Amino acid sequence: MTTKAFVIGHPINHSRSPLIHGTWLTEHGIDGSYEAIDVAPAELLAFFERLRGGEFAGGNVTIPHKEAVFALCDSVDPLAKTIGAVNTLVVRDGKVHGTNTDYLGFLGNLDAGAPGWADSLDEAIVLGAGGAARAVLVALRSRGVRQVHILNRTVANAAQLASHIDGPFSAHGYEAFAELGPKAGLVVNTSSIGMHGTRFEGLDLGLLPKTALVTDIVYTPQVTPLLADAKALALRTVDGLGMLLHQAVPGFEAWFGTRPLVTPALRARIEATLEH
Ligand code: NAP
Repeated sequence: MTTKAFVIGHPINHSRSPLIHGTWLTEHGIDGSYEAIDVAPAELLAFFERLRGGEFAGGNVTIPHKEAVFALCDSVDPLAKTIGAVNTLVVRDGKVHGTNTDYLGFLGNLDAGAPGWADSLDEAIVLGAGGAARAVLVALRSRGVRQVHILNRTVANAAQLASHIDGPFSAHGYEAFAELGPKAGLVVNTSSIGMHGTRFEGLDLGLLPKTALVTDIVYTPQVTPLLADAKALALRTVDGLGMLLHQAVPGFEAWFGTRPLVTPALRARIEATLEH
């Protein structure tokens, strides 16, 4: 019988997940499907009934449902609760389990792009304090980073994250970069600055240690102004596309029973769909 998976969202036509999972299904010769389904908020409850009926092995959840599905899942793993969002559903015996794979995607991307990045990493700076920052904080905590400074336009939002998520987190405005930059071995942008070429004003990457790694989870464009500035200073960089690809791995494995690889060919296929 064909194993079926999905991504639900509203709207959903922007999602690259069907291309990612479709590539893996073909590569592994699996009798399966992965379809994008537009589910409006008012239809979510009915969709969960369909899930419990066993039509699908599971699927992904994207905007605007990542928080709403919490209440509808039969179980949610503790890290997804800490992150505050569910992006992956797995159906087993008529029960829907919710999880969040974004933090694994973030880690998988850095492990592939900058092996050993967390070894003896003492201090890190996270730019932004929205939903994606939560997954990054959980990821950095899991690798034992000693101190993580969260810098955000609205300092109160950074402070809220620092107090909500248990870990070595402190909250600041962007002006704190001048003081914190010289000690930071890692800078992660999780804010939406960088999308469509927007840039941080007054963030002097020249203050960072020469060995620092700069990564951006924004991947449209793939080389954001932040990454371009870091490259110009000969700092190590990792772009955000790999996070999208790596976050898809655990879901595919759970639904289709095979752990897929993030290959250069897959990356090239998705890159071809992005703005440059
Ligand atoms: P979000 O919850 O809406 O958070 C947005 C963040 O950006 C907040 O920190 C916000 O600051 C800041 N921000 C927005 N506009 C700003 C501006 N004009 N000036 C300064 N700061 C601004 O969004 P999110 O879900 O965390 O997503 C953030 C980005 O990550 C998006 O571009 C998304 O595409 C990307 N992302 C990538 C992946 C991946 O797989 N690579 C996964 C998830 C998300 P305030 O708190 O001050 O409003």
